[in-house]
Amino acid sequence: MDISKEKLLEDLGSMFAPDSVVTEVTALEDHDSDNNKYAKAHGIYPSSMPVCILNVESTEEVAAALKYFNEHGVSVIPRTGASSYEWLLTATDENTVILDASAMNRILRVDYENMCATCQCGVPLNTLEEILQKNGFTTGHSPQSLPVAQMGGLVATRSIGQFSTYYGAIEDMLCALEAVMPDGNVVRIRNVPRRAAGPDLRSLFLGSEGALGFITEVTVKIFKYYPDSFWRGGYIVPDMKTGFKIIRDIMAAGYRPSVVRLYDKDDFDYNFGVVSLEEGEAYMFFVAEGPPGIAQATGEAVDRISRKEGGRYIGYESVDHWLVHRNDLCDRFKDTEVLEKHRQLKVFYATTEISASYTDIVEIYENVKNNIPRKIDGLVFVGGHVSHAYQTGVNIYFVYMIKVEDPEKYVGIHQAIIDGICEEVLAMETGGCVHHHGMGKQRVKFAPREHGSSYSLLRDIKKMADPNGIMNPGVLVQRPEKD
Ligand SMILES: Cc1cc2nc3c(=O)[nH]c(=O)nc-3n(C[C@H](O)[C@H](O)[C@H](O)COP(=O)(O)OP(=O)(O)OC[C@H]3O[C@@H](n4cnc5c(N)ncnc54)[C@H](O)[C@@H]3O)c2cc1C
Repeated sequence: MDISKEKLLEDLGSMFAPDSVVTEVTALEDHDSDNNKYAKAHGIYPSSMPVCILNVESTEEVAAALKYFNEHGVSVIPRTGASSYEWLLTATDENTVILDASAMNRILRVDYENMCATCQCGVPLNTLEEILQKNGFTTGHSPQSLPVAQMGGLVATRSIGQFSTYYGAIEDMLCALEAVMPDGNVVRIRNVPRRAAGPDLRSLFLGSEGALGFITEVTVKIFKYYPDSFWRGGYIVPDMKTGFKIIRDIMAAGYRPSVVRLYDKDDFDYNFGVVSLEEGEAYMFFVAEGPPGIAQATGEAVDRISRKEGGRYIGYESVDHWLVHRNDLCDRFKDTEVLEKHRQLKVFYATTEISASYTDIVEIYENVKNNIPRKIDGLVFVGGHVSHAYQTGVNIYFVYMIKVEDPEKYVGIHQAIIDGICEEVLAMETGGCVHHHGMGKQRVKFAPREHGSSYSLLRDIKKMADPNGIMNPGVLVQRPEKD
């Protein structure tokens, strides 16, 4: 940065409305929200303190801010719903401004004829979803963070929802967007049904983690909503391996239930607990939706395949319980009670999501379950569940709880478990060490191995889009000095 912090604040104060520039200490300490909540509960702030939070209200304001930051070498972290993990929002240098666009919250158009909706980047997904459902439609996008995440962040993290196996993830829904590049140039990708005019430029922004440009407007597909034709069913299976096989067979046969979930006992007992499992058993459930005939046929096939492989049908009450409570975590997301619990119990709970082919997933799952407890002191449990299924494989969402007596050691211990899981995943040919939360600053060290020889392309793209390296430094690609 070629100016002092005082000059930066003075300039921003004259360029923007005075109350747009926030320097209040508690807001700065919480700039990365849920990240490092355990450490913060103990008064430890592992991140750098940003200079300020700048609240913007229009594309023009985003452009003016970025142009100024680019000229003066000010690091900038784009922010919308502030619900991400993996240190995506965590400032790692002191000359950082958090550029918050949650006030850009207008739904610009819902086009029922052409089945798409256009929103500013700060529209909460839930707001759009509620409007659509009242009219018999849905975004089909339902991450657990539905009540808090906003459109810009959902694209920038390559997010995925709980009904993804039917509707797809955000990359299947994104039609068009507007973004501001670091030099202030505004680019728009037009909405056409399909385009073969070279590489798909939407991909530059999907999963870009705020490192390439600032997304200001998003157009997504919408779908007809059929809540009355939901089919659902829960099954207990002898073990996780059987569960993986059932999912594989359903997908390989061409069926697309919207929800596909498989829990091991550790994860299930902590997060669910409404059904009793014997040691080693696993619980799985499915939802099928869509036009009535399709939902029913999909449900019947799921049931047939599950029973054939030894699944014991246990009805749908447990599924309904999940449908009602699936996003409860968001109610407690910024809760002071959670902080108090961290202080008293000195335990933290976190997750790491990965993916792999049907061939490799069993070994990855077993290696993590066997090896992580040996490597991590204070581990209370590590469990896992599948929540997204594909033709070629599945994800696993590893969940774990750790007792950390000395909060100063929290960052190192959390990083050690993330590293341990990523090592197990990357040891397998088809293992992907980031399924949907983004690389952030916690997993970026694995980017060269995750991408292999194509990592050089990603670095070149970063240099091309953001030559001065101001956009969320330390995500997506390692900072240059670490390459
Ligand atoms: C309880 C809980 C449950 C969750 N469940 C899921 C889930 O089911 N599926 C899932 O995919 N994720 C989930 N997440 C993670 C998170 O909600 C998603 O990553 C979400 O997409 C982030 O959106 P956001 O608006 O909060 O983005 P933010 O947290 O504000 O930002 C996320 C990233 O995107 C960048 N960014 C934000 N806005 C812009 C913009 N306008 N232009 C460019 N870059 C931008 C930021 O710099 C940052 O790197 C969950 C999180 C929580 C707390």
